Amino acid sequence: MRKYYGIDVGGTTVKLGLFSESELLEKWEIPTDHTDGGANIVRDIAASLRGPADGAAIGVPGAVLRDGTVNRCVNLGWGVCRPGDEFTALTGIPCRMANDANVAAMGEFWQGGGAGYESILLVTLGTGVGGGLIHHGHIITGAHGAAAEIGHICVEPTETETCGCGNRGCLEQYCSATGIARLAKLGGLGDRTAKDVFDRAAAGDADALAVADKACDYLGRGIAACCAVIDPEAVVLGGGVSRAGEFLRVRVEEAFRRYAFHACRETQIRLATLGNDAGIYGAARLAMRSV
Ligand code: ZN
Repeated sequence: MRKYYGIDVGGTTVKLGLFSESELLEKWEIPTDHTDGGANIVRDIAASLRGPADGAAIGVPGAVLRDGTVNRCVNLGWGVCRPGDEFTALTGIPCRMANDANVAAMGEFWQGGGAGYESILLVTLGTGVGGGLIHHGHIITGAHGAAAEIGHICVEPTETETCGCGNRGCLEQYCSATGIARLAKLGGLGDRTAKDVFDRAAAGDADALAVADKACDYLGRGIAACCAVIDPEAVVLGGGVSRAGEFLRVRVEEAFRRYAFHACRETQIRLATLGNDAGIYGAARLAMRSV
């Protein structure tokens, strides 16, 4: 049986999975070591492996060029580097590198909420808003590695507060966990997490519902803009905020249909199903497609 490692490097933990060609065999985590500018991370990964394998892929929170060169991961302390080469030198296992959001999209495409579709846009609603685009089984990275960076689509040109990226009115300012908390404060709900907002909205609280509807309206608007360009078969909602589940999905779908171009108005809006494992699934899939 061929075996593959799917590895997802995050700011606090590294998630690892050992896969056959069809399923997850075993998964585990190790802490991410930030000392020495992240110099020990690949060595720690190599030391925690469970034996030989036919291939591996590593998702990292930063831009990755087509040749596997990582162009800075601020969260890990990495500059421009080639961690895949270091991994292969230590283990003898061929290794591909990719961006973490793209790898998560590949995971959902392979065995998650996007399974069965030919093309998907994954929208990750976490601390920020990210995304990944899969077309006929391939990750679309774009000319500058910015494809599917949907968090920074401008959906509100009248916004006065500045986004982390320096622009104003970005989707992320309304639909990320922090964006929803910000809307809650502006909406008179005080200090509420995104989860609080959706829990209260689902329980019938009118003020919370107004905030949830506002966030979903912006999200529908942003997704409609994406679909007019890339026209995926399905849009998959993932990340922590998507735990609001069907309550969120239905509202985003309604908003999407209000704004979408008629030819793609019936695009499927789905929920991600792999949770925090999407990255290891996607990395494993990348690994098996490259050997
Ligand atoms: Zn922005």
